Amino acid sequence: MIYLDNAATTKVRDEVVEAMLPFFTENYGNPSSKHSIGEKARDAMEKSREVIAKKIKARPEEMVFTSGATESNNLALKGVDKKIFVSSIEHPSVYEPASGAKMIKVDSDGIMDLNSINKIPKNSFLSVVLGNNEIGTLQDTKQISEVARERNILFHSDAAQCLGKVKIKSDYFDMLTFSSHKIHGPKGAGALYIKEGIKIKPLIRGGGQEKSLRAGTENIAGIVGFAKAVELMNDDYCEKASFLRDRVIRKILEIDNSILTGHKTKRLCSIASFAFKNVEGEQLVRLLDSHGVCASTGSACKEGEIKESHVLRAINLPKEYMRGSLRLSPSIFNTKEEIDEAAETVKKAVESFRIVKR
Ligand code: PMP
Repeated sequence: MIYLDNAATTKVRDEVVEAMLPFFTENYGNPSSKHSIGEKARDAMEKSREVIAKKIKARPEEMVFTSGATESNNLALKGVDKKIFVSSIEHPSVYEPASGAKMIKVDSDGIMDLNSINKIPKNSFLSVVLGNNEIGTLQDTKQISEVARERNILFHSDAAQCLGKVKIKSDYFDMLTFSSHKIHGPKGAGALYIKEGIKIKPLIRGGGQEKSLRAGTENIAGIVGFAKAVELMNDDYCEKASFLRDRVIRKILEIDNSILTGHKTKRLCSIASFAFKNVEGEQLVRLLDSHGVCASTGSACKEGEIKESHVLRAINLPKEYMRGSLRLSPSIFNTKEEIDEAAETVKKAVESFRIVKR
């Protein structure tokens, strides 16, 4: 199989598995325990916190470990007592807990309009996805942050897809969401950066772990694996991934009536996203799977009805393209031969649908 669905989840690196194993078998202590086995777990957890904090130039005390980006987003959004504004292209783990929040429009590339941030009432809360998971668009968070600061708006960003792929400076944000399994770490681990001095309410109460913001015995092996995955993300990663991304973009756009969705250049190194005229995304993904290519689509078929993607609607994709989205998300574990083969498979699959349609 050619796996081009790394925005959904990634293969755990061998080095990550190796780093995690002792925390199942020997150093299995509870970090709250006062004996030496507990202490080993606690040390490993605090070292991991330092590694992840360093990556975003934050202080370790500003990182709260969670089970992943969904929990981090929920903690951020439900933890504040402010009027909430979100972009119209957020992941469900932001717009669901923010129900009732006002949506801020994006342009046809998925970029937030800074003027509309200027209209957000002072002292409110704004959440904007840093790298969109469907169309790959990257926001200019420095600019958003400057406007937010001027208006005393609390600024949270869902960076689930971005850690190690985008240079993130915690200075620009009040809160940031991260996930381990998007960067070759294990599932079930993530973090929320909360700038010093910002007060939020816990989602899960109990034994007071994670500064009483997230009770429950910590997932030490997951946290250690997460930190190892962060450590292994470097500039070479994005260089290789964007080479593969650009190669697949070039080849797919040779298909008639195909378009690139999202911004041409302000784009995650790991996401190539397209839409095809008069093609149904879910059928296309199933056909690709039967030909050995794992991909994904923004439009899902539920009980015989096609559910269009809110992201594609937000960027005003032409109607004839709305149901035909395809996301190919490479990682450094793909080869250029795989990319070429996958692109040929997509070409044939799209053409075969169009023949059937005629
Ligand atoms: N936010 C974004 C932008 C995502 O891409 C995802 C995963 N699809 C999530 C949040 C949820 O992440 P997790 O699986 O770690 O809960």
